[in-house]
Amino acid sequence: MFDKILIANRGEIALRVIRACREMGIASVAVHSTADADAMHVRMADETICIGPASSTESYLSPLAILSACEVTGAQAIHPGYGFLSENARFVQMLEDHAITFIGPTAEHIRVMGDKITAKDTMKALGVPCVPGSEGGVPDLETAQRLGAEIGYPVIVKATAGGGGRGMKVAETAQDMERAFQTARAEGKAAFGNDEVYIEKYLQKPRHIEIQIFGDGKGNAVHLGERDCSLQRRHQKVFEEAPGPVITEEERQRIGEICARAVAEINYAGAGTIEFLYEDGEFYFIEMNTRLQVEHPVTEAIFGVDLVREQIRVAEGYPLSFSQEDLQINGHAIEVRINAEKLPSFSPSPGRITQYHAPGGLGVRIDSALYDGYVIPPYYDSLIGKLIVHGRDRTEALSRLNRALAELIVDGVDTTIPLFHALLQEPDVLGGTYNIHWLEKWLAKDP
Ligand code: ADP
Repeated sequence: MFDKILIANRGEIALRVIRACREMGIASVAVHSTADADAMHVRMADETICIGPASSTESYLSPLAILSACEVTGAQAIHPGYGFLSENARFVQMLEDHAITFIGPTAEHIRVMGDKITAKDTMKALGVPCVPGSEGGVPDLETAQRLGAEIGYPVIVKATAGGGGRGMKVAETAQDMERAFQTARAEGKAAFGNDEVYIEKYLQKPRHIEIQIFGDGKGNAVHLGERDCSLQRRHQKVFEEAPGPVITEEERQRIGEICARAVAEINYAGAGTIEFLYEDGEFYFIEMNTRLQVEHPVTEAIFGVDLVREQIRVAEGYPLSFSQEDLQINGHAIEVRINAEKLPSFSPSPGRITQYHAPGGLGVRIDSALYDGYVIPPYYDSLIGKLIVHGRDRTEALSRLNRALAELIVDGVDTTIPLFHALLQEPDVLGGTYNIHWLEKWLAKDP
C-alpha cells in the first residue's frame, strides 16, 4: 500500500488524482512551477514542492526535477496524469531504476505504443483490425508515390512519433504526395526529433471511437466500452460521449473483447485507450494511448467506477476490482472541454478569473482547477475545465448539458462555452449524426 503519491501534473487532472488519493487515505504531493504557486492543485494537496520555473521543459517536463521531488518528499509512487511525462518511456525507465512506482504501464509498453508504426505492427499481430496502409515506415518519396497509387488516394502521411494532431498530412491526389510527405517528415523531425513516416488510407467520413481497457499486468484485462470523440477541431477532441450514439451492443462486445484480449496477452498494466476510426460498421485501429485520457469521466459515469482509484490499486499490485460481467452500462454521459480561448479564432485567453460559478444538481460533474480571482498563466494548455453530465439516456444527458452550461459562469477571460451553446442547437449534434470532419466544416461556415 502507498502512503504518499506525487502527482507530476497540474490543473484539473492533478485535482482529479488528489481527490482519489484523499478518498483512499493516501497523502498527496503537488509539484508546481513558480508560475503555479497559487494554483488550486497546490492549495489542495497535502504537501507541495516547487520544481522549477514557468517553462514546462524546466518543471513539469523535467524528469530530474520530478525525481528529486520524489526523493525529497519520500513519495513512493508517481501519478503522471495525461500529457507532460505520462507517455515518456525514458522517464518511466528512470523511475523503474530508482524503485519508484509509476502509476501506469511499463516503460516497455509505453515505448512500443509510443511509436505508431511499432504500435500498429503489434496490434495487427494481436488480431486488432487496422487502417489499410504501408507495412511499416516509408523511406522515400518514390516509395510513398508507389504506395499512394496502390492504396488509392486520398491517403494520409503520418509521423510515427506524432501526437496531439501534429505530424499528419493528407494527400488528396498523387500531385499532393510530395508536399504531404515532406511536410509530415519535417513536422515529425521538428516536433518529435524523428522523421520516420508511414501511410494510411484516408477515411472519408469515419467516427472516432475509442475503447477504454484496463489490465492488471498479470494477464487479465477488461474493456469498459467505447467513447465517441468525433467532434474535433484540428484533430483535438472538444465533445465526447459514452456510449457512442451509433455503436450497437453486438459491435461493442466484438471490438471490446478483441481489445481486452490483446492487452491481456501482453500483460498490460493499468488504464489504456485503443483508438479506432469507425466507418460503415468496421473498426480501424489508429493508435493506443497508454495513460488516463482527458475524457475518462464519461466512462466513469456510465459504469459507476473510479478509474484513478483503479490505476492506483493496480500499481499497488491488487487484482482488478471489477470483472467483465460487473461492467454494465447505465445511461449516457457527455463531456465538453472548456478552454480559455477567444472565439472564433480559438486563440488562448489567459488572465484573471473575476467570477466563477460551477453548475450543480443531479447528474452534473465539473472537473476544474478554477476559483474566483485565479490568474490563468499563459504558459500551459488552455483547458480550464470539463463539464460532464450523466442522464438515463442521451436525450436526458443533452438537456442536462444545456441546463448545466447555462448555470456555468466563467468571467474575466474568453472561453469556449458559447461554442457548446451553439452546438446544442444543431440537429446533427442532437441526433448524433456527425463524423470527424463535421465540426471543422461547421466552423468554416459563415456565422
Ligand atoms: P494523434 O496521436 O496526433 O492524436 P491519431 O493517429 O490519434 O493522432 O489521429 C488523430 C485524428 O486524426 C483522428 O481522430 C482522426 O480525426 C484523424 N485521422 C488519423 N488517421 C486518419 C485516417 N487514416 N483517416 C482519416 N482521419 C484520420
